[in-house]
Amino acid sequence: MNYQTILSELEASGNLRRLPEVTHEGRWIEREGQRMLNLSSNDYLGLATRSDLQAEFLASEAAQRWPLSSSSSRLLTGNFTVYTALEQRIARDFGREAALLFNSGYHANTGILPALADKQTLILADKLVHASLIDGIRLGEAPFSRYRHNDYTQLERLLAKNASTYETIIVVTESVFSMDGDVADLPRLVALKRQYPNVMLYVDEAHAIGVRGERGLGVAEECGCMEQIDLLVGTFGKALASMGAYVVCSEVIRSYLINKMRPLIFSTALPPLQIAWTQFLWERLPDWQAEREQLRTQSRRLAAALRGRGGEISDSHIVPFIVGDSRDCVLTAEQLQRKGFYCLPVRPPTVPQGTSRIRFSLTAAIQPEEIDRLIQVIGEERS
Ligand SMILES: *Cc1c(COP(=O)(O)O)cnc(C)c1O
Repeated sequence: MNYQTILSELEASGNLRRLPEVTHEGRWIEREGQRMLNLSSNDYLGLATRSDLQAEFLASEAAQRWPLSSSSSRLLTGNFTVYTALEQRIARDFGREAALLFNSGYHANTGILPALADKQTLILADKLVHASLIDGIRLGEAPFSRYRHNDYTQLERLLAKNASTYETIIVVTESVFSMDGDVADLPRLVALKRQYPNVMLYVDEAHAIGVRGERGLGVAEECGCMEQIDLLVGTFGKALASMGAYVVCSEVIRSYLINKMRPLIFSTALPPLQIAWTQFLWERLPDWQAEREQLRTQSRRLAAALRGRGGEISDSHIVPFIVGDSRDCVLTAEQLQRKGFYCLPVRPPTVPQGTSRIRFSLTAAIQPEEIDRLIQVIGEERS
């Protein structure tokens, strides 16, 4: 393989990726002396920039107590009690039997499916699920098929056709989708799966945990179906301003994953101090209703302004602005950056060919006047 040739080809087609050299200051980002409003952050509730919360945590007893390394996998000597305490708290909040923590959402999604799905299991995944879920499907030995994005009629046909052939079917979806910001119909998926005794539902709420639902427990809470989703995954690296992930599930599945899930067994557990920070924030989740409301209001305003250019697709704080061609998309992003808005182009293979887009990802820290200004600048771009 000629790596340099491939890199040059990526450069020529506008698809070369680089690590951005930036510094952070609250909701601002600085690059080469220019200060821009960060419109690409996953810090949806604005918690990662809250120095008051960080200070309160660092002064707490928990912060003094827990070490900065677990030094081991949880199956050996790394199972500090803070892990189990957080798992019990999460399970209880969801009204479920059990929860299990992982080092990241990537670990969760690449580990759960290969552990649970054998050759007698069929995986049916939404066409737009996150790369980590695709990798999880590829790592395992189960056959799989992907249904058109949010096309439950097609999914229903696939279930009817395959339910008696396979021992188990696992339906895999996100709730809020990463790139389009649209939302899966969880009650419909639950109703579908309930028609079959051997169908399980796997929902990744990475973009919804903290952000949706009365207590911030995600779209599953919003839809009243927290108890009907067999494998409810969420991550701590986005709205929860920490690191790691969880699955909410039955006690049997939890024990099975502890025995069979390779990224859990063969990787050093997150620092106990990190888990304590996650716990500190998790306990405060119900308090951030005003932040969730502010985020919803501003997201709807931006989506309305982008109607016809991607805004109509979104039903969340992730709002796509579809440009089409990759190079045009890079140019538009650069223009917006020059005007003080740090937004990034998303190109193939992350999104389908010809749908290169700017992906706005809003946070509760962004002020209404800043959205006014953004809408105005986008209007100028178009004319
Ligand atoms: C970010 C993300 C992940 C990965 O989570 P990390 O904790 O960052 O590894 C998984 N699934 C979805 C849908 C995501 O957006």
